Amino acid sequence: MTQEKRHLILATIVMVLAFAGYAAVKTALFPQMSIITSHLITTAVVGLMTMVIVRYVIKRQTHLLEEQARSNERLREALAAAERNGNLLRSIVASADEGLVITDRDSRVLLVNSAAWRLLELREQSTTGRLIDISRDPQVHHAFASVLETGDRAEARVEVWAGYGKRILRLQAAPLRLGGSQVDGVVGAFIDITQLERLERIRQEFLANVSHELRTPLTSIAAYIETLLNGGIDDPDNSLRFLSTVQRNVARMRDLVNDISELSAIEAGAVRLTLTQVPLRQVVEEVFAGLAPRCKKQRVRLRNETAEACRITADRRRLEQILTNLVDNAIKFNRPDGEVVVATATSDDGAHLLIKVRDTGPGIPAEHLTRVFERFYRVDKARSRDLGGTGLGLAIVKHIVQAHKGNLTIESVLQKGTTVRVLLPSTKPTQEVQTSDFSSQRELLS
Ligand code: ADP
Repeated sequence: MTQEKRHLILATIVMVLAFAGYAAVKTALFPQMSIITSHLITTAVVGLMTMVIVRYVIKRQTHLLEEQARSNERLREALAAAERNGNLLRSIVASADEGLVITDRDSRVLLVNSAAWRLLELREQSTTGRLIDISRDPQVHHAFASVLETGDRAEARVEVWAGYGKRILRLQAAPLRLGGSQVDGVVGAFIDITQLERLERIRQEFLANVSHELRTPLTSIAAYIETLLNGGIDDPDNSLRFLSTVQRNVARMRDLVNDISELSAIEAGAVRLTLTQVPLRQVVEEVFAGLAPRCKKQRVRLRNETAEACRITADRRRLEQILTNLVDNAIKFNRPDGEVVVATATSDDGAHLLIKVRDTGPGIPAEHLTRVFERFYRVDKARSRDLGGTGLGLAIVKHIVQAHKGNLTIESVLQKGTTVRVLLPSTKPTQEVQTSDFSSQRELLS
């Protein structure tokens, strides 16, 4: 029985007793009272009591209705708050970069966010709501099972075959506890570490290459010094020869260290470009003058076919560096009595200026063409080293061209020659630009 009902019964009993008391008192005190007067008084008393009861009932009902309305309002607010929290949670889960997969204790999938669909290459029809549909990789199942078993976090490295190749994911699985201490499920977060692993591999390869490149001249220097110390110094002819070899190797190491620090400065975005309108023909002349001794040695002619009036928006020192590297290669990898031509052209839309560096060398076999811009990549390692190359020249050129928002391509015909094309935007010069503004670290490292 509700409290309300109890109150009503109690009130009714009190009223009945009050009425009985009233009737008894009235009969005892006024036994002679006429029947009409008695009825009138009784009617008035009953009316009064009825009024009290009705008033009480109405008051209670109003109070109850108000209480109900307040409680409904509280419920509505609680529901709205819960919905807001739910929406917030859903949007956090949906917008997370990590792929989230939540399962219950029976490996039934409770939630898969959009990043997980993308990272795990899931298709709508392939999921029936079990973990096995999300991934068939034993590492994934092992990690989820381990969390359920031990209640501790678990990690795994997962490989997924995407359209373009292999994607590497790191899975971090954590226990899901809904209130108590027992594990109610597993939250698995998949993070794409393909790029990270690629960069780490590139870094390791780079370090291995650098130490290899430094070790070769160092070994040679150490060997010649030892020979000199072991009596070779007494033979004037040989000692001069040995010392000039040492000098050559020292120069090679210096070039290598310079190129490495140059490359890392560009990659770190530490190089500032000051763009101005550069007179191209003049710069080409200066570059030719600097390389004249090498030309003489290699018996190669240089031809500057750039127009006198040609102006190019670039950082003058960097443009010199691009041309020096390209012309130097064109001389180095040329035939005796060969030729190097630097020419320009404007792109069809007029928005770019094309600089072509053409040589008459033996050319580059097609299978090497796409790789010559990689660091330390050489078609003929021994020949490049003999010619004093570090294997970093084209990588540096590529990065500087990219920093200018330009494009670099190479084409070659065997026994005919190679042409490197530098396409630079012919925009108006701005004040200062940092290399990192143009190219992301990812592009630079590629
Ligand atoms: P290097 O210091 O060896 O010149 P680069 O990065 O400048 O390094 O060039 C990489 C490789 O590309 C060279 O070792 C060479 O094999 C090839 N190469 C570059 N330019 C030419 C060219 N004009 N003709 C033929 N081969 C070239």
